Amino acid sequence: MSENSNGSRRGFVKTAVLAAAALAANDAGFPAIAKGASPMILPPLPWADNALEPFISKNTIGFHYGKHHKTYFDNLNGLIAGKPEADMDLVAIVKGAAGKADKTAIFNNAAQVWNHTFYWNSLRPKGVAKMPKEIADKLGASFTGGIEGFKKELTDAAMGQFGSGWAWLVAEGGKLKVVKTPNAENPLTTAATPLLTLDVWEHAYYLDYQNKRKDYATAVIDNLLNWDFAAKNLPKG
Ligand code: MN
Repeated sequence: MSENSNGSRRGFVKTAVLAAAALAANDAGFPAIAKGASPMILPPLPWADNALEPFISKNTIGFHYGKHHKTYFDNLNGLIAGKPEADMDLVAIVKGAAGKADKTAIFNNAAQVWNHTFYWNSLRPKGVAKMPKEIADKLGASFTGGIEGFKKELTDAAMGQFGSGWAWLVAEGGKLKVVKTPNAENPLTTAATPLLTLDVWEHAYYLDYQNKRKDYATAVIDNLLNWDFAAKNLPKG
């Protein structure tokens, strides 16, 4: 759990921005860092920090959001200060830095800021929402075994990602599929549209599940996926 190597940048942005009020919606359908906002705004969690218990503890959320996510955010603000990226929106920063050897740190921190906001919005407290019909239909048409087949594929992706990374439900070419990415990588740099994600870095589950990544993945996939968010992210038309 040593991803936050750029600790010297910490503290550039005041903690007060965590309590930000003015949020802009971006094309991924969740509150994001506002374009041109100075300082940039780390979106608040979309639910209370204990709302995902007993599947993900308040303790895990406290470290994951308050330390890991915030550190990526602080690192990014430090890295882009005074650079063209300071006036770009987050998705543009991620896409613009992807694959560029001299922008690896910007890419890693920007993508991790985006990935985590997307992850928080991919989760919701158990029992709140029913799966929208458009998602149920697409899962049925895209996965052998329908929803159960999808759950197995996402679990397999979570388990098959060697080391740190992410498992995703994406839309591509009119169908849904599961992909996995290492470290900070995400589908924004591909032709696929991300719908949901599962963080499989150890910090996402180690406090609650220790080494049992599969127990974490199963608990989240069976109980916490935010299908309304997935439906909102479906490409239109
Ligand atoms: Mn994480």
